[in-house]
Amino acid sequence: MKEKLQNLFRGRQGMDELSKLLFWTAIGGYVLAVVLPGALRALLSSFATMFLAVAFLRAFSRDLPRREAENLLLLRWRDRKKREREAAKDRRAHSKEYKYFKCPGCGCWLRVPRGKGKIHINCRCGYTLYRKT
Ligand SMILES: [Zn+2]
Repeated sequence: MKEKLQNLFRGRQGMDELSKLLFWTAIGGYVLAVVLPGALRALLSSFATMFLAVAFLRAFSRDLPRREAENLLLLRWRDRKKREREAAKDRRAHSKEYKYFKCPGCGCWLRVPRGKGKIHINCRCGYTLYRKT
């Protein structure tokens, strides 16, 4: 039995992070569908079924480079979101000593000490802001 299962998964992608996310989203969709009324239940159930189908199609896929690239997109997106959350947490922790501005030119965060009045803030990209600290 164990050998048959190993043979089934030989050369296939298996459940990577993206497939697991799709799988658990589908399960969550089914659970949520139980409490929803008729039309919404049918819609959510069909979406959950699609997610489940894609999760298993990915798991049994033999096109490993493509599946790997798809999975990598999810992992990179997840890492970026984690870094953004940590940076926001850091800004909140230091908000009494520093004031933070987002550069309209490049979108990066600029940190200046509080209580310095109205000052010019120069960004690395060359953009200059005039803000009250
Ligand atoms: Zn900038």
